[in-house]
Amino acid sequence: MKHFAVIGSGITGVTTAWVLMQKGYDVTVFDRNRYPAMETSYANGGQLSASNAEVWTSISTMLKGVKWMMSPDAPLLFNPKPSWHKYSWMMEFASNFKNYESNTIKTVEMALAARQNLMAFAEDAGINFDCEKRGILHIYASQKEFDHAHNVTAIYAKAGLMRRRLNAQEVLEVEPRLKKPLIGGYFTESDFTGDIHKFTSQLAEAAQEKGVKFVMEADVTSVDHDGQNPVVHWQDHDKTKTDAAFDGVVITAGVGSRDLAADLGDRVNIYPVKGYSITVEMKDKRSRDAAPWTSLLDDEAKIVTARLGEDRLRVAGTAEFNGYNYDIRADRIRPLTRWVNENFPDISTKAVVPWAGLRPMMPNMMPHVAKGKKQGVYYNTGHGHLGWTLSCYTAEAIADVIHQGHNQ
Ligand SMILES: Cc1cc2nc3c(=O)[nH]c(=O)nc-3n(C[C@H](O)[C@H](O)[C@H](O)COP(=O)(O)OP(=O)(O)OC[C@H]3O[C@@H](n4cnc5c(N)ncnc54)[C@H](O)[C@@H]3O)c2cc1C
Repeated sequence: MKHFAVIGSGITGVTTAWVLMQKGYDVTVFDRNRYPAMETSYANGGQLSASNAEVWTSISTMLKGVKWMMSPDAPLLFNPKPSWHKYSWMMEFASNFKNYESNTIKTVEMALAARQNLMAFAEDAGINFDCEKRGILHIYASQKEFDHAHNVTAIYAKAGLMRRRLNAQEVLEVEPRLKKPLIGGYFTESDFTGDIHKFTSQLAEAAQEKGVKFVMEADVTSVDHDGQNPVVHWQDHDKTKTDAAFDGVVITAGVGSRDLAADLGDRVNIYPVKGYSITVEMKDKRSRDAAPWTSLLDDEAKIVTARLGEDRLRVAGTAEFNGYNYDIRADRIRPLTRWVNENFPDISTKAVVPWAGLRPMMPNMMPHVAKGKKQGVYYNTGHGHLGWTLSCYTAEAIADVIHQGHNQ
């Protein structure tokens, strides 16, 4: 039986481990945290959203970004402090404008393929992850954004994703709790939501029961190669240094993947794009009655919502280009709370849990699912703003690449 190491226990690592285990591999997962899913797969927007597959590599997004840079509570924040990593990433991002449509289509196709896998994994592992199958509603107060959505819908249709254009009245029929005046919306009935942390943690537990080994509080300091096999070097919580050779290694380390890839001679140019969320704890009936059950995406504010069971509302947004910085800034949390107050004034925001996470973003906005240069080295990483939506597809995809690699 081939023995594989998986580096990282977020959604990409745990789904990869699960699929490899199911295909008969012996799997060991490493993570520097004490528990799985404690970094970006902790408190994200919750959306399983083929309808958010539009890649950001376009001139219109870049122009919007430049405008937002002038406004302190805009959805985008760019720290202009010089950094080779940031500016080289930006150059590569701009060089991908030409692939805007083809990469959007590919992303929709992956998102559609992921849905079935996700539900199958949840069923096999007996996972309860506050899944709500009520669709995702994109909402618009500006005609310009609404017109842009029309063009995006035509691209989505080429990949087989259908969404319905709604007028203001129809938007309220889908989500009657919305209070702010809107001009229309796009409704993707087939999209859904759920709690990424619950899903990943429970899948990790199920994988462990089926024989996957988890080495936690293990900081992987490097991965190198002895000429035949990849060798993982790690440091335990008590600073003990250990290493071990494996038949193969899959790097699924989120924003940590770039450094590990560099050790192995591979360039995986992931930049950490910070985002924020709040989880509104709805302790009173009035708040629970006022909160939306349909998942929303406010395309102008770039804010998403997901109802996580009866008494939690997740609200997420913001793209911050500020390096490997995990600080939760009050001035970035405030616009999320204000958005809830303005759109759903009857929800109490007295009890709100703030969070920040780093999206592992490739400059072409596509996950890096590929073989490395050296024998036995693989990557399933760089899922950016859509890791929850895409991972159950890319885990299968990397397992196929591994199967081919080991049977050549
Ligand atoms: C605010 C926000 C909202 C979002 N909303 C959505 C959404 O609605 N829908 C959606 O599809 N996606 C969303 N995303 C994106 C999604 O959350 C991410 O793409 C996904 O969680 C990334 O998973 P990952 O496994 O690649 O990374 P992570 O979850 O960060 O996992 C990587 C793991 O690797 C470990 N690691 C890294 N380096 C090392 C090392 N050297 N040694 C040991 N361990 C290491 C880390 O400890 C971590 O546990 C959102 C992201 C943010 C920030």
